[in-house]
Amino acid sequence: MIEMKNVSKTYMIGDTEVKALDQIHFQIGKGEFVAIVGPSGSGKSTLMNMLGCLDVPDEGEYFLDGIDINNSSDNDLAQIRNTKIGFVFQNFNLLSKLNALENVEVPMMYKGVSAGESKRLASAYLERVGLQDRGKHTPKELSGGQQQRVAIARALSCEPQIILADEPTGALDQKTGREIICLLKELNAQGQTIILITHDNNIAQQANRQICIIDGQISEEPRL
Ligand code: ADP
Ligand code: MG
Repeated sequence: MIEMKNVSKTYMIGDTEVKALDQIHFQIGKGEFVAIVGPSGSGKSTLMNMLGCLDVPDEGEYFLDGIDINNSSDNDLAQIRNTKIGFVFQNFNLLSKLNALENVEVPMMYKGVSAGESKRLASAYLERVGLQDRGKHTPKELSGGQQQRVAIARALSCEPQIILADEPTGALDQKTGREIICLLKELNAQGQTIILITHDNNIAQQANRQICIIDGQISEEPRL
């Protein structure tokens, strides 16, 4: 599903080069639940941007579902982001004026799903994350954990090949964070490929495999 070959990324800050990713090399198969784990500043978000086709490598190659990302146009990349990847962020990134159901409908509206159908599907996705009775609530009427569930339902509504979750428990207390990880595990058991990005080792251990990144390099890749 995912193949990164010797991917590097350097940022320039004035005259100073910061090598955020240095020869990153790994593969992730369909149906896996993988954690990318490393301390703050190790390059996780830079890697997430690559994986999510929000940025392209300076060096190396990235194949997603057989597509050569380095040789894709901006239009193609936008299309890939919208159809293949479901993003989940630390701060949920819900639209505050829309209720939970409407938030889940947004990606489907972009895909041209009819209004009636997107309502029906959005209800089903909310049910999958245990929020069938919260559709009419706006984000500020929901707890943090519930908001993250809505964000996960929204990610699912793209029928993504991969869910990319960047620190999805970072804004939650421990118990709620564990519940969100349980939900991700459940979705993975149903076949969803998930990449979880975290600085927290305990959370990373919940995934089936860990890819550790330190100073932009993969330091080890233990299998449990
Ligand atoms: P993490 O998500 O693991 O905390 P990042 O990928 O955000 O790490 O950052 C990796 C390194 O790249 C850090 O040294 C950071 O300062 C640097 N960096 C990240 N984004 C930029 C940017 N847009 N411009 C310059 N340097 C950046
Ligand atoms: Mg980060």
